[in-house]
Amino acid sequence: MIQSIRKFKVTKNECPTKELCRIWLEPADGEAMFEFKQGQFVMVHELDSEGNSKYVRSYSIASAPSESVAGLELGIKSQGRLSGILFNAKPGDIFGVQGPYGMFSVPEDKKVVFFSGGVGITPFRSMIRAELLKKSDKQLTLFYSGRTIEDLIYHKEFLELAKENPNFIYVPILTREHLEDWDGEYGRFDDDMIKRYVKDFKDASYLMCGPVLMMDHVKEVLESEGVDVKGKLKAERY
Ligand SMILES: Cc1cc2nc3c(=O)[nH]c(=O)nc-3n(C[C@H](O)[C@H](O)[C@H](O)COP(=O)(O)OP(=O)(O)OC[C@H]3O[C@@H](n4cnc5c(N)ncnc54)[C@H](O)[C@@H]3O)c2cc1C
Repeated sequence: MIQSIRKFKVTKNECPTKELCRIWLEPADGEAMFEFKQGQFVMVHELDSEGNSKYVRSYSIASAPSESVAGLELGIKSQGRLSGILFNAKPGDIFGVQGPYGMFSVPEDKKVVFFSGGVGITPFRSMIRAELLKKSDKQLTLFYSGRTIEDLIYHKEFLELAKENPNFIYVPILTREHLEDWDGEYGRFDDDMIKRYVKDFKDASYLMCGPVLMMDHVKEVLESEGVDVKGKLKAERY
């Protein structure tokens, strides 16, 4: 379905690292936000002076639907033209927003395991917050990998959520930094690491989003554990 492009204004922009930022936008006309489902994405347009689209890219919505009544949150990795413009955006800047789109969603199964690398966390943050906010009885396990702790921009939030919710297991992973006091994992995903947290592989559904090499690797590990990856593993490719 073709959705119209609506003008949204930036209300806040926080950049915890040199290449990652959290940006909040809301409808510029003060009208209601559109409804969306956790895991969906929007198309963000750079607009010309007449309000026409000059350039467009897709971004997953990082906030949960029930907490996005006034506006939405995105997580951006600055790597090219539009993400660079969003990274440097100031409150009041206007962008076109079109959506929601996408079918990436939380599976029906009771046990769901998420594998994310870098900015691939954004759809999972929306999904996990949505499940926890509605007190769902799903057992959720999140593997969240980044080069350094700074790159895990929602790390503190997930630690808190895991403390408050016994059915949410949070596994932070660092690939390029070693810390004195680290209650997480190091390195690439492998069988042993995943087995420390996932007890029965065939019992769960799996979602992944992140760098292509990471996703290929996760798929290999799950296949080797006998998971039906065609039916039980879904990926969002950026
Ligand atoms: C469904 C979906 C959801 C997504 N969600 C997110 C999200 O939540 N957060 C997020 O950050 N991204 C997300 N993306 C990716 C996003 O849509 C963009 O692809 C990304 O931001 C890059 O767009 P850009 O215009 O900034 O970069 P572009 O200008 O299109 O550049 C793309 C790539 O080319 C490289 N490049 C650009 N210029 C040059 C040059 N001169 N020489 C060499 N290399 C160059 C850049 O480094 C970059 O890697 C999503 C994509 C999809 C499909």
